[in-house]
This record gives sequence, C-alpha cells and structure tokens, in this order.
Amino acid sequence: MKLTIVVPCYNEEAVLPETTSQLTHVIGVLKEKGSIDEGDILYVDDGSKDRTWELIESFSRQNAHVTGIKLAHNVGHQKALWAGLEWASTHADAAISIDADLQDDVEAIYPMVDYFNKGIDVVFGVRKERTTDTFFKKNTALTFYRLMRGLGGDIVYNHADFRLMSRRALQALVSFPERNLFLRGMVSSLGFPSAMVYYDRKERFAGESKYPFSKMLSFAMDGITSFSVRPLRYIAYLGMLFMLIAVLAIVYGICSYVDGQALPGWTSLIVSVWFIGGAILLACGIIGEYVGKIYKEVKRRPRYFVEKSVNLEE
Ligand code: UDP
Ligand code: MG
Repeated sequence: MKLTIVVPCYNEEAVLPETTSQLTHVIGVLKEKGSIDEGDILYVDDGSKDRTWELIESFSRQNAHVTGIKLAHNVGHQKALWAGLEWASTHADAAISIDADLQDDVEAIYPMVDYFNKGIDVVFGVRKERTTDTFFKKNTALTFYRLMRGLGGDIVYNHADFRLMSRRALQALVSFPERNLFLRGMVSSLGFPSAMVYYDRKERFAGESKYPFSKMLSFAMDGITSFSVRPLRYIAYLGMLFMLIAVLAIVYGICSYVDGQALPGWTSLIVSVWFIGGAILLACGIIGEYVGKIYKEVKRRPRYFVEKSVNLEE
C-alpha cells in the first residue's frame, strides 16, 4: 500500500528541514514494520513568498520521498490541502494530512496507519488538551466548536486537519463540487468507518502562526456559512418572536390607552415599531429559507456514497 503525507506550506522555510527529516523518519519506520510498501511526502506550497519552494525542490533532489506541488498563488490552508488530497486520491492508497509546523505529533501517524490496515477509512487525529495554546486561542477554538455543533455541523471535537483518509474516502471527498471548503466538516459527513487517535498538541516548532485572528475569524465564518443554513432560519425565528412581542405590545398599548395612561401617539408608535420590525425580519427569514435551498442546490453535492456492496464488481 502506498501512503502519501500531504503537507500544506505557507512561508514555512523555518520548519521545513525539520518537518522533512521527521516525516522521512516516520516513513522509514512504517516501511520497516511492513505497515506500508511505499510512502512519500507531498508538499503543497501555497504561494509562499519566502524560500519554501526552493527548499522543497532541493529536498526532492536529495530525498526520493519528497514530492511537491506549487500553487500559483496563496489560496489558503483548506484549498492548498485539497490540491494535495485531490492528487493523492488518484495516486495513493491512503493520505495523511498534517500541518507543516509539527504541532501535530508525527508519532500519531503509526496508529493511524494501523487503523487503515485494519480497514478503517478515516482516522481523525484528536488533540488531548490544549496546554500549549494561548488562553485566547484555546477559548476562541472552544467557542467555535460549540457554535459549529450547535448549528448542526457534524465536526469532531478538537480535531483539526490532521487525519488519514483511504483512497475511497478521498475520492468521495473530491467528488464534492463546492468551492467553499471546510474540510473537517466535509470529511465527517462522508460517513465511512472511522476511528480516532489521540495526541498531545505541541508548540509550533519554528516560525509564526499563519493564522492571525483575522484569518481565524474568517475561517470560522466560512466554516459556518459553508456548512449550515441555520443562521438564515434563526432570522425567521427572530421575526416570529418580534411579531409575538408586537401582539403583547398591542394588548398592552390598547390597555394603557383605555386606561388613559398613554401619551398621545405612543400607542400607535410602539405597536408599529414591534410589528414592522417583526414583519421585516420574518420576511427576511422566509427569503433566507429560499436562499438556503438555492445554496444547498448549487453545491451539487453527491447524494450518497456507497460504503460496501456484495457480489457487485465494477
Ligand atoms: N497554511 C497554508 N496557507 C495559508 C495559511 C496556512 O497552506 O494561507 C498552512 C501552514 O503552512 C501550516 C498550516 O496551514 O502548515 C496551518 O497553519 P498554522 O500552523 O499557521 O495555523 P495554526 O496552527 O496557528 O492554527
Ligand atoms: Mg500550527
């Protein structure tokens, strides 16, 4: 079986030599154990501005395990990863995606491959705890997972993009036609046999995080909006709530009017404020429902993936 380790890199010249030597070591050990027959590292240079590509080229000359793809410009982590996985889906039996910065424990690759050899299609790398992350990163991440879960995104808690996928899982994934990628959500919606491998997340080996807060926020927004249409529905709910309040306001307004306690003009004003507000929101929500349907349709997602069949040969 052939394993490809896909590593997206954006301005990672500081870590690449170490990453290469660690991953090469892992591949060596896997071969020795007989877990794999062939293994290579596929670097995807996501339009780096530093010497990342020069390094990849020079490693590939010295080390037969190193291969690389250079993207024309910076398309972001998810799309860079996709590029590598798409290639792997036709050239490897299994692919592992891992960040270049060695934050994910390369040792976890061994149990991942063992699971694959037992017939598991998707193995999620799950962080045990976030002791090395800053308080800020830990909590923003936690909030993000909660929010995603609450909005119906079926994602694995504390799993980033460190995972193994079998060829058929990769092929299922690349059949998703959408352009807004949120890989961890898409992968867990495939539904093939899966397992989890737990590891300690480390400090970035060198260099700086390529995910400043602004990128993180936009990643979270993309994640939610490319996965869930529920926010649209919540607008409709809010509209209904306001309409309900309007009814109460009407009753209250009329009572105060009859009581003679209301200032002239107040009743009509307060009633219309709530009613119009509610009506507008409800209308937006209804339009949103249709937009949501259109959104789901234009994604043209495959309706199902066949996991197994019997006596059927293609
Ligand atoms: N990355 C990428 N394109 C980008 C930003 C990041 O390919 O535009 C890669 C980066 O090289 C690394 C991975 O995505 O391998 C995760 O980035 P990083 O470690 O900076 O994120 P963090 O761990 O801080 O969330
Ligand atoms: Mg990192």
